[in-house]
Amino acid sequence: MFRRPSLPTHFPELLTKTFEAAVKSGDLIYTESTQESATDNGVDVRYTFAPALAKKPTKDDNNGDEKTEKPKFNPFEKPDPKLMLVPDFGDYSLVLNKFAIVPNHFMCISKKVIPQTAPLTPNDLEYSYAALQAAQSDGAKYIGFFNCGPNSGASVDHKHIQFIELPKDFTPFPESVIKAKGRDYKPGQQPLSSEKVPFAHFIVPWEAEWAEEDAKADNDTEVAIEDPVAEELGFKFSTVLSRVLTELRVNDAPSISYNVVFTDKWVMAVPRSKESYKDISVNATGTVGLLLAKSQEQLDIFKEETPLKVLTELGFVKPEEEEHPEYDY
Ligand code: AMP
Repeated sequence: MFRRPSLPTHFPELLTKTFEAAVKSGDLIYTESTQESATDNGVDVRYTFAPALAKKPTKDDNNGDEKTEKPKFNPFEKPDPKLMLVPDFGDYSLVLNKFAIVPNHFMCISKKVIPQTAPLTPNDLEYSYAALQAAQSDGAKYIGFFNCGPNSGASVDHKHIQFIELPKDFTPFPESVIKAKGRDYKPGQQPLSSEKVPFAHFIVPWEAEWAEEDAKADNDTEVAIEDPVAEELGFKFSTVLSRVLTELRVNDAPSISYNVVFTDKWVMAVPRSKESYKDISVNATGTVGLLLAKSQEQLDIFKEETPLKVLTELGFVKPEEEEHPEYDY
């Protein structure tokens, strides 16, 4: 019998307890940082300044050594038991990120070794959606993210979707797009975008929110709306992925690289042209304005050159609405 993925209701407590124990035992390296809020063209930005992070392993550290034939290290093949949250979650395990800048940063990793370059499947999305929902509580909203391809900011080539709590008083720009235009979106339609954002990005609502509102409006009683199922999530994801692939193709991109960010309300995908700009490496979190600076110099570059300009350098200029509407990547 088909069973929807579910996690215990005490998952947020399990997350916090395991995180705190792993920090205490030294199995998890938690880097303190300072935060600074800003806006760029009306888009919320949050700088995280963490100079100690320069020590964290990078993609190149995990890439092995061709001269000594040292094999690539895959930290997710046998995850550290001290970082384990849920070993058996369908085809996945839920594991804490060993190098955290925000508390409770966790990941959904495939049990089998699957390359990170493989696109998200309906099953990946359904389990990730369930993990995101389980981590959330009234005061804590989470984003899920997926870095895919050599220019996406990914460092481990084993399929993993990550989750962090959104900072308080921070609204990722897709949230405003969904508030303004999400209700009129029909499945299969062109993805939505923000007029304030100059880089190519494609947003689609998952729609759970309107379904709930509509059901309540239809009959006065409380109605429980089920989370979207794998097929729905997969269809929405394929809508944004198609546009990403088209952008990569028309721009002769050097590789298939993109970032995906999602909440329980929407999914956004951003095609990537470069992994870093002036030595600043950016992953999916950066595409919603959560910018990480590992030195004062990096922080100054973001501020002087402006976040949206840096992000446009790392991606592509947003196409005009009718420019590449075809889905034939
Ligand atoms: P990405 O860089 O997007 O591919 O994400 C991989 C994440 O895995 C990084 O944020 C690392 O901090 C994290 N990581 C690296 N090694 C380990 C490990 N041994 N256990 C858990 N997480 C790790």
